[in-house]
Amino acid sequence: SSRLIEGRALLQDVWSVFNAANLPHDCINLGQGYMNFPPPAWVTDAANAALKTTLSNHYAHPKGRIRLRNAIKAFYEPSFNRSLDVESEILVTSGANEGQFSVFTAFLEQGDEVIMFEPFFDQYLASVIFNGGKPVYVPLHPNLDGDKPTSADWKIDFDELRRAITPRTKMIIVNTPHNPVGKIFTKDELEKIADLSKEFNLLVMADEVYDCLVYDDKEHIRIANLPGMWDRTVTVLSAGKAFAATGWRVGWLIGPASIIGPTLAASTRIIFCTNSPLQEAAAAGLEEARSRGFFEQQLKEYQERRDVLLSALDKTGIKYSLPEGSYFVLVDISRLKIPDDYPFPLYIMNRPRDFKASWFIAMEIGVSSIPVSDFYCEEHCNIGENYARFAFCKDVDTLRQAGERLQKLV
Ligand code: GLN
Repeated sequence: SSRLIEGRALLQDVWSVFNAANLPHDCINLGQGYMNFPPPAWVTDAANAALKTTLSNHYAHPKGRIRLRNAIKAFYEPSFNRSLDVESEILVTSGANEGQFSVFTAFLEQGDEVIMFEPFFDQYLASVIFNGGKPVYVPLHPNLDGDKPTSADWKIDFDELRRAITPRTKMIIVNTPHNPVGKIFTKDELEKIADLSKEFNLLVMADEVYDCLVYDDKEHIRIANLPGMWDRTVTVLSAGKAFAATGWRVGWLIGPASIIGPTLAASTRIIFCTNSPLQEAAAAGLEEARSRGFFEQQLKEYQERRDVLLSALDKTGIKYSLPEGSYFVLVDISRLKIPDDYPFPLYIMNRPRDFKASWFIAMEIGVSSIPVSDFYCEEHCNIGENYARFAFCKDVDTLRQAGERLQKLV
C-alpha cells in the first residue's frame, strides 16, 4: 500500500483534470497558473549564454550555484532586514515545490502534525503525507456578503487555530500572498500566528512565492521578520513567479542555518542539485531587476490584468472576492445553473459540485478555471465547492477575450 492510497490518491489531481489536453482546444486557460508570455528577454538571454559555457551545463553545488546565491543575498537582504549567509542561510531548490518538500523530509517524523489554512495549495497535502506527517486543517472563514468582498474577508478564527495545536504539532504553513484566495496576511494576523508558534515551539513555513504581486496599498509582511521569528521560519520563494518562468523549476529557501542545513541534506538526496543554466538566468534576473525597475513594472502590468478580469466579472454581476495579491481570483459559482443531465465525463461526475461548475464553464464558454474543493479536506469541502479560481497571469488581450466569454454565463 502507499501513503497516499487513502482518499484522494485514487482521484486525479485537479491540475491533470483541468489540463489543456482534456479541454476544448480553443479554451482560454485561466486554470493552472502559468503565463502566456515569456520571461523578460534579458533573462532568457542569460539562459542562452549559460548554455554556451561548459560549467553551467554541469552539476551545480547542491546549495545552488554561487552566482545565484550571491544574487539572492543581494536582492533579499533589504527585505529580510538582515545579512544573509550564502553558505548556510540560502538554498536553491528545484522550484518552490521541491523546497517545501525537502523541508518536510528534513523535519517531519512519523505522525508529526502540520497545520495548514484552508484553502491550501494542494501540493502541501501530498508533501506532508509523503513525509509521514499528518495535515491538520484550519479553514479561513469567508464572509462575502458585503458589496465588494475582498480576500481580506477570509478570516482566521484564532481560537480554532489554537485548538488545532496538539503536542504533535511541528509546523504551520503560512502562505501570503495566498493561493488561491489572494489574501495578504495582515500584521495583526501574522503576529498572532507568530505568538502561537513561539508559545508552542512550532516551525513556520512561509510560502511567499507571490511576494512580488501585492496590489493597491497593501503591504507584504514577512513573518520571518517579526520579533523572535527568524530562528523558526523558512521562507519559500520562486523564480517561476518572479520571472514568468514556471517551467524552469527554480526556487529558493531563506532561513536560519538550523533549518537550511537539514533541508540541504534532504534536498541533496532527493534531487542532488537544481538545473544549472536556469540558475544562471535566475541570477541575472535578480542582479538586474532593481536597476531595470522590473518588479515595479511587472506589478503594474499585473494590476492591469487583474482589473481587466475583475471589470468583466463586474459586468456579469457574478460575485467574487477581490484579490489583494497573487494572480488568482475566487469566483462564487454557487448560483451557477448546471443542468442535471449535463454530459460530464466520469472523472467529473463523481467529484464535488465545483468540479462540475468549472467543467461546465470550460465546455460552454471556453474559459478554464480550477475548482477549489481540492484545496480543502473532505470535511470542509463544502466551503470550497462554492468557488472556482480564475488565474490572470495572461496578456490583457486574452483576458479581455475571456471577459467577453464570461458574459455568456449570465
Ligand atoms: N502554482 C500553480 C497554480 O496554483 C501551479 C501548481 C501546479 O501545477 N501544481 O496554479
